[in-house]
Amino acid sequence: MKICEIFPSIQGESSMVGIPMLFIRFTGCNLRCSYCDTKYAYEKGYEASVEEVLEGVRKSNLKYIAITGGEPLLQKEVYWLMECLLKDFNLLLETNGSLSIERVPQRVKIVLDIKTPGSGMSHKNFLENLRFLKAKDEVKFVITDRDDYEWAKNFIKTHTFKAKEILFSPAFYVLSPKKLAEWIIQDKLPVRLNLQIHKYISVK
Ligand code: SF4
Repeated sequence: MKICEIFPSIQGESSMVGIPMLFIRFTGCNLRCSYCDTKYAYEKGYEASVEEVLEGVRKSNLKYIAITGGEPLLQKEVYWLMECLLKDFNLLLETNGSLSIERVPQRVKIVLDIKTPGSGMSHKNFLENLRFLKAKDEVKFVITDRDDYEWAKNFIKTHTFKAKEILFSPAFYVLSPKKLAEWIIQDKLPVRLNLQIHKYISVK
């Protein structure tokens, strides 16, 4: 499989914000979001076997592993890697929402993106995924402007799905977190403002 990078950091998003984790970033993405901050992951990377990745993970001495991208579900080896990692670690999968999550092992916590119109990729949302979400999973909307906010607000009103959290994240340097916070408070929306704290403290 092709891996872009493996690095320890602080989880900057979701209900697990602030927890030290090892991040395994897969190379390659089938989307091109307008605000993408990991363009280097489209191509950059190196070939590694599942065993080689596991060896690196064990050396890290971290209990939590985040599988991210790019889009990890593009590479079929990710499923075997997740099965192996689940024996010893807590696993979080960050996926862009365009591919089926049906085969992801049940013990993996999923953070599923629903792409808003501002991303330019909302036509790629694979909405069948809503059926496969578990009570511990989370759904994330990256909001670029008021239109995206209204779209996301309408989405959660008109779709039924299981999720521990619904995350509303202001696109970094595009929408002010204060503005998004004000809209959420005004509407009393049952969502979590998701601030990507790793960017504020300048770790990956
Ligand atoms: S899904 Fe993620 S990695 Fe892919 S283009 Fe969008 S923001 Fe970038």
